[in-house]
Amino acid sequence: MNMIKIQKQDWEKGLEKLKSGYELFGPVVDKDAWEFRKLEPDQLPVLGMANTRLSAKSTVFPQSQVMFRYSLEPSKEDSGGMQAEGLDVKPRAVLGIRPCDAASFQLVKKNFDNREYPDPYWVKPFEQTTFIGFACDQPLQTCFCTSVGGGPYGEAGLDLLFSENGDHFIAKALTEKGDILAKAAGWQTEGDAAELEAKRVAAEKKISTTVATDRIKTSSVLDLFNAPFWEEIAFACLNCGTCTFSCPTCWCFDIQDEVKGTEGKRMRNWDSCMFPLFTLEGSGHNPRPKKEQRVRQRFMHKLKYYPDKYGSDVQCVGCGRCIQLCPVNIDIRQVCESMNNL
Ligand code: SF4
Ligand code: SF4
Repeated sequence: MNMIKIQKQDWEKGLEKLKSGYELFGPVVDKDAWEFRKLEPDQLPVLGMANTRLSAKSTVFPQSQVMFRYSLEPSKEDSGGMQAEGLDVKPRAVLGIRPCDAASFQLVKKNFDNREYPDPYWVKPFEQTTFIGFACDQPLQTCFCTSVGGGPYGEAGLDLLFSENGDHFIAKALTEKGDILAKAAGWQTEGDAAELEAKRVAAEKKISTTVATDRIKTSSVLDLFNAPFWEEIAFACLNCGTCTFSCPTCWCFDIQDEVKGTEGKRMRNWDSCMFPLFTLEGSGHNPRPKKEQRVRQRFMHKLKYYPDKYGSDVQCVGCGRCIQLCPVNIDIRQVCESMNNL
């Protein structure tokens, strides 16, 4: 792991050099918020944000994606055949991702990149991506990454970690991919590990929220499922899906065909367990017709089913987006407390 010092003017020069070998993604201002986008040739990432409104998951798992196209036209050579899309992915770099979002890819990976059902539409872009993180020096009041195994200088899922310090950045190359990218950008001046460490300690002290989830692991699934608090938690929920769309660790999707005449395309689109139609079966039966059941499903999946299935920590990186954006102030930290104290 190499420490690197980069003067700010060399950051932009480095990005210029990277454009020949990588597609670059980064945060850009979109009206009143920051969002991750593929950068235009003359565009630079805007790094002064607390965090983006939607997470960086769209860089690997787009909100809407064509999986393949087909034609039923008898005169066409590929009649009845399928033309896959989205699998020829060039090397890319996601710039300015926060440590919480980078860590989320490691949690989501268990779903998309496993031996039973590897998903090439997620795995290919993920493998081709170098994640360049920017540490959080000003965490928000809603951030609780340090309670769920991360931190404002967390390294999980990152190839390079940057921290801004006056006229320069101090960076740490964490993987071979990160080393390769730093060399390609010409960032090779040796940096000081103590400088990064001092900034890490200062940033962690700013996170005031602690959330306990330790006792959820040993509680019985049935006790949690039948707990008396779900109706109250769900009471105000509008089932708008904002929490799931903004969450870096939510991965529900739906697959639909769009057909026009004899031409069709199969699309994958984000979906949400908070929507009543998400579980509606072809028979008309819906196993989760009530709002209370859907809200319970979201929290049980993140805080109980996922840790039980994978023997891991919770499926949440503490980014706080669902707390900031929920229109009726449903707060996962309070739900953790209710579940942990059952
Ligand atoms: S953001 Fe809030 S209101 Fe909307 S679905 Fe999520 S919990 Fe319900
Ligand atoms: S559940 Fe909320 S706090 Fe946790 S990762 Fe998702 S959006 Fe962030």
